[in-house]
Amino acid sequence: MEIVDIVPPVLKDNVIVTTVDSLFKWAHGNSIWPLSSGLACCAIEMMSTAAARFDLSRCGYAVFRPCPRQADLLIVAGTLTWKMTPPLIRLYEEMPEPKYVIAMGSCAIAGGPFADSYSVVPGIDKVMPVDVYIPGCPPRPEALIEGMLKLKEKIMHPERVEAAGKQVAEG
Ligand code: SF4
Repeated sequence: MEIVDIVPPVLKDNVIVTTVDSLFKWAHGNSIWPLSSGLACCAIEMMSTAAARFDLSRCGYAVFRPCPRQADLLIVAGTLTWKMTPPLIRLYEEMPEPKYVIAMGSCAIAGGPFADSYSVVPGIDKVMPVDVYIPGCPPRPEALIEGMLKLKEKIMHPERVEAAGKQVAEG
């Protein structure tokens, strides 16, 4: 029996039935707080994304937090050097669970134009888990918003992301 079957027919147009799990996912996906942190030029685009022109509030990402203890999204925007890695990992570890990471720009994804350098990390997934990758040098604010919406979909509908991943793997 479906859970919706327990609702009397006369109330079906006026009652929404859901699960606590779905409610939490919906609430969480619509209230993500990114950490205010940037490493290099991609961070300028991240700042533009938070400015009035792009109105990030309509996507549920309005509140950039200056403290990792109040944030659940780390946007790694820019070139990560080995020297900067320990402070960045410390910020990540201070964020409460569940937490997410976006790799913004080709430097964060794979070292970008500095991939062969002795000092640059060739992709932040070498040092922390990544949920969404946004290519570009730099990605525009619209691309960051698209990536943020993908993360929201991953939080609210993980089964869709899993199914898409299987299709890619099978294809
Ligand atoms: S991807 Fe391009 S714009 Fe972004 S930090 Fe690297 S060099 Fe700068």
